[in-house]
Amino acid sequence: MREEIAIRAIQHYMYCPHRWGLMEIGQMWAENVYVTKANIIHKRVHEPEHRYSSRGSKVFTSVPVYNDLEKYNLYGVTDCLEFFEDKKGVPINGSEKLYRVDIVEYKPTAPKNGLHREEDVMQVFAQKICVDYTFNCKSDAFIYYADTKKRIPVLFEDLYESYDEKLQGLLAEMREKISKGVIPTIRKGQKCSGCSMKDLCMPKLSAKKSIFEEIREIEKGKV
Ligand code: SF4
Repeated sequence: MREEIAIRAIQHYMYCPHRWGLMEIGQMWAENVYVTKANIIHKRVHEPEHRYSSRGSKVFTSVPVYNDLEKYNLYGVTDCLEFFEDKKGVPINGSEKLYRVDIVEYKPTAPKNGLHREEDVMQVFAQKICVDYTFNCKSDAFIYYADTKKRIPVLFEDLYESYDEKLQGLLAEMREKISKGVIPTIRKGQKCSGCSMKDLCMPKLSAKKSIFEEIREIEKGKV
């Protein structure tokens, strides 16, 4: 069975493969104001007292989902799932009633350009792969932006196959790096503003040589 990958790691990898490698392979972590803001929003979403019904739906937060098909082997926890009674839906946990399922992912800020960030869309697609497998349904997906208080649909239907191909490609890349213990080098043109790992990563230095290469050279007495 292939290495399990957490859904949230896909978004980290797409944002900056080096940052993902520092976290996943180097076991490093640092927080900043953006991380704290996101944590607060997610904490509110995931608090049990925020389980409620609205718009005629049953709303559940922090729902664990997975897809253990060989080609994915993914797992994670969704921010929020909404279940709407629908005759064309599916039974949930053996219920007599049928439901359609909506995924709602919470993000602190809306992108400045476009409706969604590419890495957020891929994270939601990975959630859909898991939700559809876990509940045997065909879910719809939305991203809720806290700053604009808008819930924007993420439409996959026509692009399902291309997202699926991209997801499987990303998972293969990530697994290869994990199995070799290789932290990816910094991508050309990587945007670093807002990254909580800047002090650990030192992007200007690391662009020339990774921190691990420096350590290896010091250990070998080359420096
Ligand atoms: S500072 Fe830049 S290069 Fe370094 S981990 Fe963060 S985003 Fe990536």
